[in-house]
Amino acid sequence: MFVLRELELGPGGAGGSSGRGLLGLVLSLGLSLGLSLPAQAAPQVLHSSPHPKAQAAHPAAGKAAPAASLAEPCRQWVPRLPGLTATQCSALKLQPSGTRSVQGRELWMGDVGGRHAHVKVLVLGAIHGDELSASTVALQWMGLAQDNGAEALWRFVPMLNPDGVMAQPARRVNAHGVDLNRNFPTPGWAQEAPRYWAQRTRKDPRRWPGNKPLSEPESRFVHDQMTAFTPDLIVSIHAPYGVLDFDGPTDPPRRLGRLMLDPVGVFPGSLGYYGGMHKGVPVVTIELPNAQRAPLPAETRQMWQDLQRWMGEHLPAKTASAVQPSRSP
Ligand SMILES: [Zn+2]
Repeated sequence: MFVLRELELGPGGAGGSSGRGLLGLVLSLGLSLGLSLPAQAAPQVLHSSPHPKAQAAHPAAGKAAPAASLAEPCRQWVPRLPGLTATQCSALKLQPSGTRSVQGRELWMGDVGGRHAHVKVLVLGAIHGDELSASTVALQWMGLAQDNGAEALWRFVPMLNPDGVMAQPARRVNAHGVDLNRNFPTPGWAQEAPRYWAQRTRKDPRRWPGNKPLSEPESRFVHDQMTAFTPDLIVSIHAPYGVLDFDGPTDPPRRLGRLMLDPVGVFPGSLGYYGGMHKGVPVVTIELPNAQRAPLPAETRQMWQDLQRWMGEHLPAKTASAVQPSRSP
């Protein structure tokens, strides 16, 4: 799935001629999607006018409180995240998880839905810190789940790599320089992850898998959530390649909103490889088309609705943990 990332390296980076065509396809796809989308709210939401559609979807969006008056984490997040209004953020019931990043930032989370739901979903935003729109979408989905009721039990971790997000400029890796999405204990990690990094990425510092799997508090947190929360589905939100990827034991969603399924492989230490292929928990990987700009509210809602429709037809997957009788006949 993350070959797209490696291809970004270009000549002398990823190597392999087969990837170049894909890169062109991905770039042109991303460009066409990006160009077709009107600009939404600027990153500094508090100092600019939200897009009219954003106001329509969220009537109070224009009455944003000054960031300084907001409680944490919104005080930090609203000025940083594109398309997120103070009103949206403050309406969310976020809780401190008790786990902190390398630099001591809280990993905030929020549960929405019934404790006895048949399906549990873990939604992760911004495992890569320079993919700001990923956090926005995770937060806006949490708002949709709160507003509309939820048949599933959702656990949102909208900003898994806060040190990367809050760095100036934002960084893909965490504060130890580790690509968290290469730090999961996939089979053969000790040989494969360092070798892949050295040979395929040419020791790209943005893709360093770390010294050992689960060396980082942020990746350990995800691993602990998989053990304790036992999700039937993991959704990991990234940007900016504008595609949808899937790993796991059931039929993948063909599309979420404008994003079309385009599975492209597995990589040592990635969450998709670990969760989807090794642990048997379906992992939907979303690559939003723009890291700096959130999708329009209608697109965010469409992705959410498409995901729920697919969940109703395919979850719980037969081999997922904590399987209970399916609610569909
Ligand atoms: Zn990413």
